[in-house]
Amino acid sequence: MIILSAVLMCGCGERDDKSGKVENIIFMIGDGMGPAQITALAIMQDYEPLNMERARYTGLHKTYSANNRVTDSAAAGTAMASGEKTCNGHVGIDTLGRLLESSLMSAQRSGKATGLVVTVEPMAATPAAFYAHIDDRWDYDSIAMDMLRSGIDVIAGTGAGALRKVTRPYGEVDVIAGLQAAGYTFASDMESFMAVGQTPAAMLYEQNELPYTFADSLGVRGDYLPCATAKALELLERSGKNGFFLMVEGSLIDYGGHDNDIAAVLGEIRDFDNAVKVAFDYADTHPGTLVVVTGDHETGGLTIVSPEEDFTKGAEGVEYRFSTGDHSGTLIPVYAYGTGAENFTGVMDNTDLAKKMKALLSFD
Ligand SMILES: [Zn+2]
Repeated sequence: MIILSAVLMCGCGERDDKSGKVENIIFMIGDGMGPAQITALAIMQDYEPLNMERARYTGLHKTYSANNRVTDSAAAGTAMASGEKTCNGHVGIDTLGRLLESSLMSAQRSGKATGLVVTVEPMAATPAAFYAHIDDRWDYDSIAMDMLRSGIDVIAGTGAGALRKVTRPYGEVDVIAGLQAAGYTFASDMESFMAVGQTPAAMLYEQNELPYTFADSLGVRGDYLPCATAKALELLERSGKNGFFLMVEGSLIDYGGHDNDIAAVLGEIRDFDNAVKVAFDYADTHPGTLVVVTGDHETGGLTIVSPEEDFTKGAEGVEYRFSTGDHSGTLIPVYAYGTGAENFTGVMDNTDLAKKMKALLSFD
């Protein structure tokens, strides 16, 4: 009884469990989330700490790809998933076209459950880098076929409509029907997803694009990302497998950056940070869980300028300027939490993130 209450008392803070074995990894990627985006959210919150700032182990990573100082999401996703730099546009293959094994696939091979939770189509470059192998990130039809064969236990995102009509050389394929034939419980909204009790499961909204959170007046989206993260954790835990690997992406931070729309960026990064809270809270109560939070690259070349440096003006005294409609090549912050977090400090390469995760997953 005394031991039990001691364990419970530890439940409200981060475990500094350096000797512990990493059983579960939650890899959280804010697509297009650079230092200025994170700072902008801190300003919006009057410098109240972000959830990701609960992490005591932090670092930076270099994002350049094999053929460009400024990476795209395909090369960045591949580097962070597999540990190999590749060319922009390539998903899950190296510069010579050889297939790469992602950390998610390594986890699957060692008997762990796996999941992907994103705010776009799961065929988009970042999630695709964890299961697909192709030299053209925009070939969603081929990527969808890789997803059908992936064996990932929990998939959440958008684009079910497009997945019902995937074009192949021999005709059309209904990937949703294929998932169901493979045993997946399929849901097309969060209400029915919350009622799902077993894996494999897929929750895919019919449409390809969700509204930005700040423009979600009809409540199409609500708290989808934090809620789907919590639900995925519940399902992965229930799968009965020996731990899990879950990738969560705040995909639309990048879209806001491409649109040079600060309101979109702020809403999306706050939504992502709410999902980080779900993951960190899970790590607090589940020893052996590592959470790594980072971005894949910066989008928009965002800078925060304030000519008058006037704190009395509050948020209006701040001016946000974008310098590009594309990505930029800056270092990206890393926040690590839970068991094994101490491995993710200092200045790293984006490939180091995958290498470290694979190493932590492989010792038995
Ligand atoms: Zn982008």
